[in-house]
Amino acid sequence: MPMPLEIVGLGKAEVRFVWDEGVEDLWSARTLRQRCTCAYCQSEATGERLLDPASVPEDITVTSMSLVGNYGVSIAFSDHHSTGIYRFRELHASHPNRGAQTGGKSGANP
Ligand SMILES: [Zn+2]
Repeated sequence: MPMPLEIVGLGKAEVRFVWDEGVEDLWSARTLRQRCTCAYCQSEATGERLLDPASVPEDITVTSMSLVGNYGVSIAFSDHHSTGIYRFRELHASHPNRGAQTGGKSGANP
């Protein structure tokens, strides 16, 4: 499982993950917020997206981050949304840098 050596983004509009294999990924805070998979943002039953991506402020920033076990990070945003947990494996696999190996769009069925 990929593990981040470093996660930098407190108070910023972007978050940088430095993985143990030496790769760095940069996510915009807005993108992370839009991808939140908590029960408020995504239906647990159907996987349907409940969050309107357009409702996420353009200038959103990260206000707090904390590790969740050894598998993910919980991120709080400046729109006061703090229930999202981002799993390292998914973050690592779904970054556009890895687009070639994910086999196209995932979880975006109409
Ligand atoms: Zn959420």
